[in-house]
Amino acid sequence: NNIRFDALSRSSHATDATDWRVEYPAVVITPDTEIEISDIVKTCIELGLTIIPRGGGTGYTGGAIPLDTQTAVINTEKLSFIDTIQSQDGLHTVNVGAGVITKRVSELAAANNLVFAVDPTSQDACTIGGNVAMNAGGKKALRWGTTIDNLLSWKMVMPDGTWLQVKRLDHNQDKIQLLDEVSFKIHHLKTDGKTLLKTETLTINATHMRKSGLGKDVTNKFLDGLPGIQKEGCDGFITSAEFILHQPLEHINTLCLEFFGHDLDNAVSAIVAIKDNVDGNQDVDLVGMEHLDARYVKAVNYTTKANRSELPKMVLLIDISSNNQTSLDNQIDQIITLTHDREGECFVAKLLEKRQTFWKDRANTAAIAAHTNAFKINEDVVIPLDKLGDYSNGIEHINIRLSIENKLATLDAVKTYFQNINPDSSLVKDKIDHALTLLNEVDSQWKSALASLAQAAEFKAIQTGERVISYINEFAQPLNDLLMGDVFAEIRKEVQEIHAEHRESRLFVAT
Ligand SMILES: Cc1cc2nc3c(=O)[nH]c(=O)nc-3n(C[C@H](O)[C@H](O)[C@H](O)COP(=O)(O)OP(=O)(O)OC[C@H]3O[C@@H](n4cnc5c(N)ncnc54)[C@H](O)[C@@H]3O)c2cc1C
Repeated sequence: NNIRFDALSRSSHATDATDWRVEYPAVVITPDTEIEISDIVKTCIELGLTIIPRGGGTGYTGGAIPLDTQTAVINTEKLSFIDTIQSQDGLHTVNVGAGVITKRVSELAAANNLVFAVDPTSQDACTIGGNVAMNAGGKKALRWGTTIDNLLSWKMVMPDGTWLQVKRLDHNQDKIQLLDEVSFKIHHLKTDGKTLLKTETLTINATHMRKSGLGKDVTNKFLDGLPGIQKEGCDGFITSAEFILHQPLEHINTLCLEFFGHDLDNAVSAIVAIKDNVDGNQDVDLVGMEHLDARYVKAVNYTTKANRSELPKMVLLIDISSNNQTSLDNQIDQIITLTHDREGECFVAKLLEKRQTFWKDRANTAAIAAHTNAFKINEDVVIPLDKLGDYSNGIEHINIRLSIENKLATLDAVKTYFQNINPDSSLVKDKIDHALTLLNEVDSQWKSALASLAQAAEFKAIQTGERVISYINEFAQPLNDLLMGDVFAEIRKEVQEIHAEHRESRLFVAT
């Protein structure tokens, strides 16, 4: 039952959230217990199989996708044990199997009035093993860091079947970046998982874990050789992990900020100002922050809270917390002022039900799927907070350029088609000549728009919609007017097909 060669098992392990498919795996293995994994890994290696550890398959980097037919996917779904919470000297911890769905740990923590800080948006479907392998983080990362900051210990099997038990020393119950350095004790155990081979201590400069100003440093996978974390399953198989749980402050409120207009300058300035302001307040903690960009807002069918008939350019969701509701209220007043100063609108939810409604849009995974519906290649990027506006402008610049280039390529193809038409009457010849004149005019306008994109004013005009480059309005419609009637039906159809083909192959950078 645990070793499956059937078509359903193999096809359901051919891809992950990227939807990228290369090969079916040869076999899917679903071990019942942690201890079996050593023998399974050793045997697979002896058989010359490539091993892919797999959790929920929600990864966006393609790490769980078989690239070779001789692949064994080891699915952790049965490693779903959750031990009881341990509490000692103010430290609350829980040890769980690699296959536990992340949300289950959050629920257990909440039921014990504690907080599990690893909360990626995919938490309903992803697993603890995947969280460790990807160093996942969510809205609570701002306050408590990502997976790496919240791990106390973890167990993993190496390719030769031996075990590593990694234990963080002197956990500060906070983000690693608040320390100068961080140490881990690494026990190497024989394949029985018990007999100690050797022990070593790894001490890492905290700035190597996370550069200043960054929530997560995806450029440094190696992390000074720390095993398992952020390695996408490439150095070993994580079988279980022990996490610290945090004690929440007594009161928590959620704010929803909406920013309108064309650029993100005000929104980014608000994010930076609010973070600095709350960081300077000893009584209040910023425990969660996420932004929804314009495309996401559209994809989730967002209902604008402000009394306006337009969608926001950016929505910012913030959880702030304190042991004192008056301090919290004062802080909220300051955030409202900072938001209004930047022409944004701020809404406050104090009751749990309303807070959950505010956050609901963020977890709308069906909409996220629609948002990323095209064939896509995903890359994690890390941007210092105050550079978010520049980043967004840079992406829009790339998208505008790609869009114009795509339109120009369409015109090229239409031109070639026109030039190859053999006119059977002077009417057709005249009309095609006129069509080519129209095409050449539009072509030269778009080429000059492309060339002037480097100038800030030109880019801004296109970005804000003041200057619209429209295939339909500038070319397709005038062309249809020129080539009207039955005589040109075939030509119009062919031009439409050329356009559709080019539009579908368009590249687009989504954020
Ligand atoms: C809608 C959506 C929202 C998301 N939101 C976030 C977010 O807010 N924050 C965030 O950080 N990520 C997010 N992600 C990405 C993804 O959910 C996380 O990276 C998650 O940690 C992956 O867990 P998984 O169990 O699904 O791993 P999988 O997709 O199964 O695997 C991911 C990688 O981890 C490896 N792996 C899995 N289990 C193990 C193991 N036991 N031992 C060793 N390696 C293993 C796999 O080989 C693969 O390389 C999101 C994804 C989706 C689809």
